[in-house]
Amino acid sequence: MIYLDHAAATPVSKKVLQAMTPFMTEEFFNPSSPYLPAARVRAAYEEAKNTIANFIGAKGTDLVITSGATEANALAFTAASGKILVLETEHASVLENAKHYDAQTIRVDKTGLIDLADLQAKLTDDVELVSVSLANNELGTIQPLAEIAQILRETRLDRLKRGLKTQLLLHSDASQGLALVDINVARLGVDLLTLNSAKVCGPKGVGALYVGHGVRLKPLIYGGGQERNLRSGTENVAGVVGFATALETIKGHTVAARKNYTRLVENLKKELSARKVEPVYLGNPKHMLANFLPLCFPGLDAERLIFKLEEQEVYASTGAACSASKGEPSHVLKAIGLTPEEIAGSLRLTLGVLNNEENVRQAGKILAEVVNAEYARMKNE
Ligand code: PLP
Repeated sequence: MIYLDHAAATPVSKKVLQAMTPFMTEEFFNPSSPYLPAARVRAAYEEAKNTIANFIGAKGTDLVITSGATEANALAFTAASGKILVLETEHASVLENAKHYDAQTIRVDKTGLIDLADLQAKLTDDVELVSVSLANNELGTIQPLAEIAQILRETRLDRLKRGLKTQLLLHSDASQGLALVDINVARLGVDLLTLNSAKVCGPKGVGALYVGHGVRLKPLIYGGGQERNLRSGTENVAGVVGFATALETIKGHTVAARKNYTRLVENLKKELSARKVEPVYLGNPKHMLANFLPLCFPGLDAERLIFKLEEQEVYASTGAACSASKGEPSHVLKAIGLTPEEIAGSLRLTLGVLNNEENVRQAGKILAEVVNAEYARMKNE
């Protein structure tokens, strides 16, 4: 098979699985139990949390471990009791959660980049939280978080000068891009950051929320008081150790990974072009995750393309796995101004650890053949 959907899921590496296994077998103890073997498990858990936190320039005590990015996003929003602003292209886990708050959306441009003027216009005195993902999960567009943080800093100062005490926090869902963008919470200026293990060859069902100093959250669930009372439930020790090991594997390799995927994506484009297939490439060429290749074949039916690709064991998707499965047109592609016809002809290819020069070239060749066959079929109809 040739897998081109790493934004949806990634395989757990052998190293990660090996690190996790003891905590599901001989080291199965509950980290809160009062005997020595349990204390060992507690120590391993805290160490793994530190590793995850260090990856983003934070401390283990700054993290709340969750069941994934969806829960981390929901927990982040509990910091607000007033108005919140979210980018219109956010993942469903942000947009659907936002519906439970007094929320407004911020516009993006044709490349998926935030419209900073729209953000500034909507930053009224009652806004308490702004949520903008690090990188979009359909387009790969990387948002200027440091610039957004600066705008929020200035707004905070302005509020203070006018004697207003309303908080203004910046949350970012960094589910996509953890392996390709250097993330440091202080440098980025975020107050809340969502992390997702499943996208970096860690286990699914594990995530974390970085919580900056002074940010007050309300628990979503109550119980034994784990994670400083913010997320009760017996700790997922194996999952957290797996996530930490996955991050250790990618640490220090972002530059090399970016170079690698840039080359592979270029090769794929060349394969298409050599076979006279010239799609419309979506996203922002300057601010884009290197492993993303969102593209559009106007007039074609992407669902059919996916089916035809699958027949040759090439796996791709039309967009986010969750919205694609509902059969609704992508709100992200709508937001960047694509017509319904263009949306229907759009594919998202995302490269990752299962790709190499050889299988990417092969994928390009197969995609070109499938696309050319579809155009030929339509001509003859
Ligand atoms: N946010 C983004 C940007 C994502 O890509 C995903 C995964 O698809 C999620 C949130 C949801 O993550 P999870 O399924 O781990 O809750």
